[in-house]
Amino acid sequence: MLTTRRGQIETPVFMPVGTAGTVKGIRFEALESELDAKIILGNTYHLWLRPGIEVIKAAGGLHRFISWNRALLTDSGGFQVWSLGALRKISEEGTEFRSHVDGSLRFLSPEVSMEVQAALGSDIAMVFDECAPGQASHEETERSMNLTARWAKRSKEAFVRLQAEGADTGRVEAGGLSGTQALFGIVQGAGHLDLRRNSLEQTVNIGFDGYAIGGLSVGEEKSLMFEVIDDIAPRMPKDAPRYLMGVGTPEDLVEAVARGVDMFDCVLPTRNGRTGQAFTSRGKLNIKNAQFIDDQRPLDESCSCAVCRRHTRSYLRHLYTSGEMLASILLTHHNLAFFLDTMRGVRQSIRSGDFPKFRREFTEGLDANGE
Ligand SMILES: [Zn+2]
Repeated sequence: MLTTRRGQIETPVFMPVGTAGTVKGIRFEALESELDAKIILGNTYHLWLRPGIEVIKAAGGLHRFISWNRALLTDSGGFQVWSLGALRKISEEGTEFRSHVDGSLRFLSPEVSMEVQAALGSDIAMVFDECAPGQASHEETERSMNLTARWAKRSKEAFVRLQAEGADTGRVEAGGLSGTQALFGIVQGAGHLDLRRNSLEQTVNIGFDGYAIGGLSVGEEKSLMFEVIDDIAPRMPKDAPRYLMGVGTPEDLVEAVARGVDMFDCVLPTRNGRTGQAFTSRGKLNIKNAQFIDDQRPLDESCSCAVCRRHTRSYLRHLYTSGEMLASILLTHHNLAFFLDTMRGVRQSIRSGDFPKFRREFTEGLDANGE
């Protein structure tokens, strides 16, 4: 169970990614009533650059700006600077980079990231970290991991100060729940297990409300990703949520749950929906393929989402090949439904003690390649 100031959330949970204040291609009504997403993610980097925090502060915070009253998690911006920002310069103080929006020179540090996240008023904020490339050497990763630890300490200090100053726009005084933002630490260390353990120890020593494993799914081998999770997840605090950042496919989610992970976010269901790829209980299918031209079946015969109840593969392929925007909308809807339903199934099977069976059958189903 994940306790936020906007309610309790059953875990394991998948968080749809709402990059720029929108989960791309889906209305909030559908996220709430049809998909029942309990928490979504917002990207600090994107919202900070555009529309900027003054606009969001004027609305009274991100919840009010986007009209979403359920829980929100914001990342720190570190990962986007790493993946999108050009000409960046990393110093002890922070990271200098050029905005991908207007080319202006910007500076992001633990203090700035905490200030932006307080202004956004998300329910869970993340520390500002540096992400070492998946193939980084031991020496390079160690330098980066120790910098992340020092930045985590500064993030926590800035967070405490900002909370005391009342900078957090998302504060709620609900019965029994904490009115303050939660802050999660991030374990880095790429594929080097000794550095991962060291990072975890330093992060836990600072003390956070939850702990994330960052810097995975960035181009390393999948076996290495699971090697890191196998080693680190059992060492993470038992009484705090464990969040695997930016991962992954439905299969990755189920496998990571088996290793003790509670929270996930990933752009795959929305991004791949826009490029014609559907995730189903029988594996992935690409709606562009000619084989679906007169296929009268739904995307996934085991899915009860609004799209699968109503539309055929043949129709969805027609929309996609005609460049109709409804294709992206419908595929996004189904993909999110599939990810959220998978996690619902995982939670039910854990409650009834059938998770090993669920995991086996789920994995077998995926091997069917969409058929
Ligand atoms: Zn569906």
